[in-house]
Amino acid sequence: MNYYSLHKKSPNVSFQEAIVNGLAPDRGLYFPESITPLAKEFIDNLDQYSNEEIAFEAIKQFVGDEIPEAVLQEIIKDTLSFDFPVVPIDENTATLELFHGPTMAFKDVGARFMARCLGYFNRNNSNKVTVLVATSGDTGGAVAHGFLGVKGVDVVILYPSGKVSDIQEKQLTTLGQNITALEVAGVFDDCQDMVKSAFLDADIQRTLTSANSINIARWLPQMFYFFFAYKQVYKQQKEVVFSVPSGNFGNICAGIMAQKLGLPIQHFVAATNINDTVPNYLINGVYEPKPSKATISNAMDVGNPSNFIRIQELFHQDINALKQAFSSYAFTDDITRNAMKTIYEQSGYIADPHGAVGYLGAKEYLQQHPNSLCIFLETAHPVKFLDVVESTLPVKVAIPEQIKEVLDKPKEATFIRSYDELKAFLNTEIVTL
Ligand SMILES: *Cc1c(COP(=O)(O)O)cnc(C)c1O
Repeated sequence: MNYYSLHKKSPNVSFQEAIVNGLAPDRGLYFPESITPLAKEFIDNLDQYSNEEIAFEAIKQFVGDEIPEAVLQEIIKDTLSFDFPVVPIDENTATLELFHGPTMAFKDVGARFMARCLGYFNRNNSNKVTVLVATSGDTGGAVAHGFLGVKGVDVVILYPSGKVSDIQEKQLTTLGQNITALEVAGVFDDCQDMVKSAFLDADIQRTLTSANSINIARWLPQMFYFFFAYKQVYKQQKEVVFSVPSGNFGNICAGIMAQKLGLPIQHFVAATNINDTVPNYLINGVYEPKPSKATISNAMDVGNPSNFIRIQELFHQDINALKQAFSSYAFTDDITRNAMKTIYEQSGYIADPHGAVGYLGAKEYLQQHPNSLCIFLETAHPVKFLDVVESTLPVKVAIPEQIKEVLDKPKEATFIRSYDELKAFLNTEIVTL
């Protein structure tokens, strides 16, 4: 499979090149040249297949012959070594729990898949790359964990000093081996700017790639969730709708890809916090990116969602076609906290703030379509947003094993204050693997 740049000013590239480049030279996102629906018989009998088999069917056309089938199956098996349960909340809503991976956020799947693909492409140690990533919290941990010990891949993570939670900081800074954490004097945007400068800097003597959802190997595996959820509910004979708490819109865009592959999804709801660039676009037809605002669902504090352009491509830049299949609603922190309380009081379920935003999107849609089954994605375990959860609900969240493990380990991070210090680090530090 080849990929083209959505800016249409760069050559088309292979799966491998698209992963290693991250972004095309013209700064456009990569997009597959074709999308071929899966056999109807396969979709109709989804519950006859294992998660690994489903994932393999969904992704194989996007990999093509660049990874042998047996190796791809192994990569998928390794990536998906945990559960993806759908938990009923009430008569019309259920939640798809995506937090059973090692760092308890849905980004584990994409990070693990990408790491294993890069590991395969580097199997002869001839294509060393450095994954350079800025994080506001969750991405860093998932990437660090996903890439730990992968041969020929070094990972350098920039995070804003004092701006991530203790748990998130430990998840980034305690792993060692090929993972280095750089603690930046500044905010997330400073980290992001440094990473962007490094990608544009011809003096950096390493092959750099990104590991956020602009990278096709992070983005495409997220299609799997929608198949796994559908498999668990389609025998209920209801129209299935997904409500996805959205920030960079990678997850929901992957859901629309699953629909293009033939999954009978009635509608998508992109639920956001007050960073409402997309909801506004659907209302007034003007796409107006804004600086991001801080909220309690901070993994979605994005003012200019990078994957929205892929969604527009999937609907051929036709806003009316988009509106038929896709809605988007924004919710304040107060409304989100109230939703967490409602969910807890009515069903005993503890939702994290991101999941609660998804729940609100589901309820909004159900007002007009009361007979659908609306599944909202629970993108992180409540323990990852402990302060918000415990100050909103009368609960004490038990610390799961995989979190306890990192809390006891010592933090190791290098403090940097400027882009020059990052550059010096990248050009002098001896590659460990
Ligand atoms: C990253 C993240 C999101 C947003 O996902 P996008 O694909 O960027 O829209 C939502 N919730 C949590 C917990 C996240 O970490």
